[in-house]
Amino acid sequence: MEWYEKPVRMMRWEYMQNVSKMKDMDLEQLAKMKKEDWHINCEWFVGAPGVAPGLGFQTTFKAEGFERYPGFENFDSLREYLPYAHKYGIKLLVYLNMHWYSYEFAKKHPDWEQLISSAEPYGKIHPLYGNGTTFCVNSPWRNWAFRLIKETMKTGVDGIFLDGPVVFSDCCYCQYCEEKFKKTYGENLPEKEDWQNFLWKDFIEFRRDSLAEFLRDAQKAMKEINSEGVIFLNAGGWQPSGWRVARDIEKMQDYQDFNGAEEFFHPKAEKSILATSMMAKYLTAGMKPAVVFNHYAMGSWHYIPLMPLEIKLALAQIIANRANPWICVFDPLAKNIGEKEPVAEVLGFAEENEEYYLKTSSLAKVAVHFSRQTSTYYLSQYTSLYKDLGTGKEEGLVLDQGTGKLVVDWERRKSINESLLHHSYIGCYLSLIRSHTLFDIILDKNLTSEKLKEYEVLVLPNSACLSENQRKAIKEFVRKGGKLFASFETGFYDEKGNLLEDKEWKEFLGIEEIEDLFPPMVGENYMTATEEFAGFPKSQLIERPIQTLKVRAKKSTRTPLFYLKPLPKIYMSLQGVSASPALLISKYGKGKVVYSPSLLEAFYGEYRIESTSQLITQIVKMLSLEEIIKMDAPSAVEIEVYEQKDSSRYIIHLINATGDMQRPIKEIIPVRNIKISLKVKQARKIYQLNNKETIPFVHEKERIEFVIPELKLYEVVVVEI
Ligand SMILES: [Zn+2]
Repeated sequence: MEWYEKPVRMMRWEYMQNVSKMKDMDLEQLAKMKKEDWHINCEWFVGAPGVAPGLGFQTTFKAEGFERYPGFENFDSLREYLPYAHKYGIKLLVYLNMHWYSYEFAKKHPDWEQLISSAEPYGKIHPLYGNGTTFCVNSPWRNWAFRLIKETMKTGVDGIFLDGPVVFSDCCYCQYCEEKFKKTYGENLPEKEDWQNFLWKDFIEFRRDSLAEFLRDAQKAMKEINSEGVIFLNAGGWQPSGWRVARDIEKMQDYQDFNGAEEFFHPKAEKSILATSMMAKYLTAGMKPAVVFNHYAMGSWHYIPLMPLEIKLALAQIIANRANPWICVFDPLAKNIGEKEPVAEVLGFAEENEEYYLKTSSLAKVAVHFSRQTSTYYLSQYTSLYKDLGTGKEEGLVLDQGTGKLVVDWERRKSINESLLHHSYIGCYLSLIRSHTLFDIILDKNLTSEKLKEYEVLVLPNSACLSENQRKAIKEFVRKGGKLFASFETGFYDEKGNLLEDKEWKEFLGIEEIEDLFPPMVGENYMTATEEFAGFPKSQLIERPIQTLKVRAKKSTRTPLFYLKPLPKIYMSLQGVSASPALLISKYGKGKVVYSPSLLEAFYGEYRIESTSQLITQIVKMLSLEEIIKMDAPSAVEIEVYEQKDSSRYIIHLINATGDMQRPIKEIIPVRNIKISLKVKQARKIYQLNNKETIPFVHEKERIEFVIPELKLYEVVVVEI
């Protein structure tokens, strides 16, 4: 195994403008401190700084043909520090800013800048961090960047992190992009965002391909100097808006060694306590080792450390989901008393127990699809989705009085669709984690017959845009006995968002006909159980999600839930049950399909109403053969289980976020006597990693049962078989 395939604990020590002060420090002491006090094994060191007014063209080390950063004229930071880093077992990666350059530097290279559709430089209209501009991956700047990469690797460091380049929103319309696009697609660049123009969709691919090709050539340049080196950039997280800046781990991972994305804590952001867990699990769905970037800071107050339990939870969620942690420490934050203990506690634990994090395989039999195709190209056909629900007036469509044409505000429509997906992914994630269901996230490229063989249940939370091959693979999966849970407009569009007339697909979902969308309405609309179902007694009213399709089910479809007749306003009497089913359960081959005409996941993601989560989790449980793990613990306890085949053992990670009812969290309430049942033929020994104490267990019918006496914040339990 290469070092980067084993658990990596990364740190960046940020000095901002004072970076040159390190030349007066005891470098050996610095490396020793990071290793022994913080327990890292990989450090990022600034090679080309990201500081005002955009000094990414200067270096902190000797690089032939490049300007030195002030203070480093006679000090080669990388060559000086590297021997000490290596002495203490720390791999050294170099941070190269690749997206922020001063106007003065840009003036010397007028054809390097990214241009927006109005042909103005991006940085002129949107000054970066208030001052500076940015260059284009297709311009000759790329050769300049590759030279810098080679000079960096000549120092002997272990690899490079590229902070950028970023293909910014509404970019790039420079001459090189014009030429390259014309050569590839035979047409001029599309003038503006227009989702009915196929060239616009080509442009989106073009932007992502351009970034991936830059990374490919950057990797090649790096490997010319050191074939063992690693390289990566921030390829983006699960968020559906990533296409705007050309981010996509599935496109980038062929040319990089880590899939990394940020998950910073910010007060007031009201993120779920599971946000870091979700990012880690998403990134590990890729083919490369994952890394989640965390600022060890109280949001934008960078010189104050994040509260201890917040950073501990974040780090535990990252390693429990098999990603690598990365923290940034802002000097002189270290002057705060006790600042390193929370980090040292988790990273020290991971260091001491590294063997339990090596070569693990997932036990999950449930796969949840996070679709980049859908987040990029999905624009629902139902215009009533775009109505402003607050005022009830249509703002998406504007009648241009001059021409009499309907003008569509594409940007607004697109962002509404992205918001639906955003909440769908959050809703699905929270439902399943909080119900202690084991699952993997799978990406577009994983929707193949081969990959789906690993799972019993496939969840498609409004995976609207699916290719013909993906739809075929899903059908084959079900025909052979797989179980599918799909919602709303899943598979109604092809992978580029074009509306499909695929009657067979709709029949596959159990649909005879789709009539329309129920008028979207917040509140006072319901569904009801017409038989006992998913823990709901007959006649139970259940809140209806806002976005809901009115469908007719094909014959022989089981329909345990129905919508009530829609109410146009709140405070009105109920009008009785409608003829529209709210859940369609049908058989297909040896398998089963459950289809929800409502966007259940988004409703839960946004409103967190428990009955919706109950439906989602009960449906998944109903479709699963046998739960691999059962745990009797509060919803805020996350459980992840892996197998280490080489060592014949199961590794159970437990993370407890039970405590404060708000973030930043300042108190964790320990959970006691957690009963766990694991499906396993035999077990020899069970013990906790924290105190190495053995745990007694009972073995019955291919399951073992045991009790964890107390869970504080993070615990790992080992089951030897
Ligand atoms: Zn360009």
